[in-house]
Amino acid sequence: MTPIEVRALEFVRDFIDTRGFAPSLVEIAKELEVSRPRVTQLVKALVDQGQLTKEGRKWRSLEIVGVTDLRAVPTSRLQAELGRRGVNLSALAVPETRSWSRHAVTCAVDSCDIVVKRGHLMCRTHWFAVPYAMQEGMKLANSAGDGATYQDLFWRAKEIAARATARKVA
Ligand SMILES: [Zn+2]
Repeated sequence: MTPIEVRALEFVRDFIDTRGFAPSLVEIAKELEVSRPRVTQLVKALVDQGQLTKEGRKWRSLEIVGVTDLRAVPTSRLQAELGRRGVNLSALAVPETRSWSRHAVTCAVDSCDIVVKRGHLMCRTHWFAVPYAMQEGMKLANSAGDGATYQDLFWRAKEIAARATARKVA
C-alpha cells in the first residue's frame, strides 16, 4: 500500500467506526484533498488489493476487510502515523513505572469474558490478534504515562482483536 492508500483506508475505517456507515467518494476525496477521478482510482486499488469490499456500484457499502490494514503497516509507518498526530514513540521509551491495567479481570474485548491475569489486557487469543507494533506502542505509551496515545491504540487494538475473532467464527 502507498501512504495515500493507507490514509484512505484509515479514513474509511474511522468513518465507519464513528458513524456506522461508509463515507461517500466525495467525502473521501475531501479528506485526502484529491480529485474525484483520483479517489475513484484509489478506492478501486484498495478493493483490488482486497483491503476493502464494495457491493456493486454502491459506494456507501464499502467495508474494511479483516485486519489486513494495520497488520500490514510496518512499525516505521505506524510511527510515522503517530508522528503525524504529534506523538513520537521513540521519545516515549522511558522505564516502566507502574502497572498499566491493574484492575483488568476479564479480556478487554467486549464480547469476550475470559478471565485474564492481573496486568494483562486481553486473553491470549485476542492479544495475539493485535499487531506487534500496536502492542509495543501501547506498552511504550503506558510506561511514558501518555494516556491519550495509549487510549487511541488500545481502542484500535480492541477493535482489531474483536474483528479477528468475528472473522474466525463467520
Ligand atoms: Zn478475549
